[in-house]
Amino acid sequence: MPDQQHVKYLLSEDQIPRAWYNIIPDLPRPLSPVLHPGTKQPVTPDDLAPLFPMALIMQEMSPDRYIEIPEPVRDVYRQWRPSPLYRARRLEKALDTPARIYYKYEGISPVGSHKPNTAVAQAFYNKEEGVKKIATETGAGQWGSSLAMAGAFFGIEIEVFMVKISYQQKPYRRSMMQAYGATVHASPTNLTNAGRSMLAKDPNNMGTLGLAISEAVERAATSGGTVKYSLGSVLNHVLLHQTVIGEESLLQMAMADDYPDVVIGCAGGGSNMAGLIIPFVRERLGKDLNTRFLAAEPTACPSMTKGVYAYDFGDAVGMTPIMKMATLGHDFMPPGIHAGGLRYHGMSPIMSLLHEEGILEAQAYHQNGIFEAAVQFTRSEGIVPAPESAHAIRAAIDEALEAKEAGEERVILFNLSGHGHFDMGAYDSYFAGQLQDYEYPVEEVRAAQGRMPQVDEAALA
Ligand SMILES: *Cc1c(COP(=O)(O)O)cnc(C)c1O
Repeated sequence: MPDQQHVKYLLSEDQIPRAWYNIIPDLPRPLSPVLHPGTKQPVTPDDLAPLFPMALIMQEMSPDRYIEIPEPVRDVYRQWRPSPLYRARRLEKALDTPARIYYKYEGISPVGSHKPNTAVAQAFYNKEEGVKKIATETGAGQWGSSLAMAGAFFGIEIEVFMVKISYQQKPYRRSMMQAYGATVHASPTNLTNAGRSMLAKDPNNMGTLGLAISEAVERAATSGGTVKYSLGSVLNHVLLHQTVIGEESLLQMAMADDYPDVVIGCAGGGSNMAGLIIPFVRERLGKDLNTRFLAAEPTACPSMTKGVYAYDFGDAVGMTPIMKMATLGHDFMPPGIHAGGLRYHGMSPIMSLLHEEGILEAQAYHQNGIFEAAVQFTRSEGIVPAPESAHAIRAAIDEALEAKEAGEERVILFNLSGHGHFDMGAYDSYFAGQLQDYEYPVEEVRAAQGRMPQVDEAALA
């Protein structure tokens, strides 16, 4: 019998997980090797050493199912973890649904999202290896804020390339990064070859996440070893660090005497969704459950619903290693939707593989429907969600309405990846009726996919 009393399920500090769960050894088939952008041969740890500390490179390729969380990282996690799991009782009532809706709330971290779960771990391993400075990119500003905070905790200088459209739409995210002590540039900049060549083609270029990644990677790669690089999503070690979300949720669902039929996350590069679902995927594979997993993405940048599963670059100009993933083409320029954190052309290789294997479903949503769901959620649960997280809310509400139609007691769990306190400009546009619903840009995607790297996969095997 599911618990009928509580609104939130809280764990104690000593229930913060002691290990991250690495799904790589449990995947239904092996991940395709990551390739060097020049030779198109599998990368070696030495190839990645200019960008990342060795401990993270080893995690990226680790065959170990569990990796112990270092005590200094757990110490920082204690600042906000364990995060609460809520039962959305008021939302259920508003929808008049027999479904039970639960959400894990990652917006209680100091910066307001799940991203510090990996930022703190990455800063720790960089510090251990004597790194003094890290360059990174940020879209909506959540990742830049997270790494800036982690840099402040561990005494590392942080330089952030922030997508220009977000830099203009969200000036207070920039101030926040500066409050933590970081340096912030609007990307494209004149500081890198990648930025300069883009500005030469189009001086009014508003930037993309892929381009900001190119700038930050170039910064590290040309620093002669003095600057490392850090990525806030997509990579295996990032997903690994986020699994604390799902491990805590498993304990909290047990406290509620319940278990989800469907687990939902919004998907940009895939890390918050992965963090929630990966421990539930382990349970499904190990215990023969029928749990469904659903990724919610924007219609304007639908990497899983409309992308191809192929080898592509992680950045816009083709400097990063080549990964097999669901992609729209590395130089595709997604329309300027307000969920900046979801404007990424690709998808993490692990999530892409789970999608290919039919374990992960994906669905794309328009902006206006997203904000409609966000407002309904705000008025029933009181939390103003980030536009990114509102994609998961839309999907959860649709599942609850479907359950009502079918007269089913469906159990729904979603990740509320962050709050929207820095996104009120987007809400203003929605209230003013000025939000555009972008159709999926078929022609541009087709053209971008034509420019992807050619890889002879048969020759790799
Ligand atoms: C960055 C961000 C996302 C998207 O990134 P993922 O790696 O897909 O999780 C989603 N929600 C919020 C609040 C974010 O800041």
